[in-house]
Amino acid sequence: MKLFGNAMLLKNAIESIDAFIQEHTAEVCPHCRNVCCINRHGRYDYADLIYIQALGLKPPAYKENVRDTDRCQFLAASGCTIERALRPFRCNWYFCDAILKSMEDGAVKPYRQFIKQFQKIIELKKAVEDASLNDNNDRVTS
Ligand code: SF4
Ligand code: SF4
Repeated sequence: MKLFGNAMLLKNAIESIDAFIQEHTAEVCPHCRNVCCINRHGRYDYADLIYIQALGLKPPAYKENVRDTDRCQFLAASGCTIERALRPFRCNWYFCDAILKSMEDGAVKPYRQFIKQFQKIIELKKAVEDASLNDNNDRVTS
């Protein structure tokens, strides 16, 4: 139960910064000549899968036989087709220099709120992982 609760808090926290990030990626990414979205980055790691499973969801199906370095299979003309809260964490964590500059050059208050919320997201991600470990330990000892 704690695992689900923490996963929901994490999902809500990621959703809360979606509009802010989107505002900057919509401005900067269409001009990018070196798009960072490649198949290797679109894969979930173990911690991502714990979080997705804790929410009772399944990761999207992967196409077979795609090259790691090719354009990510989840990237469409309008951007990533996976909702932000369910993307691999490395996707939500990564901000290139151009995006960071756009954020830093923007209004101060939303940027500060974003940084604060992002710190909360890191803590919640750790809480999800810890709750998963505790769940597993309980199963082993019961
Ligand atoms: S996040 Fe940065 S590197 Fe990735 S597509 Fe946008 S501008 Fe390009
Ligand atoms: S943000 Fe979406 S499109 Fe980009 S690498 Fe991650 S999963 Fe793929």
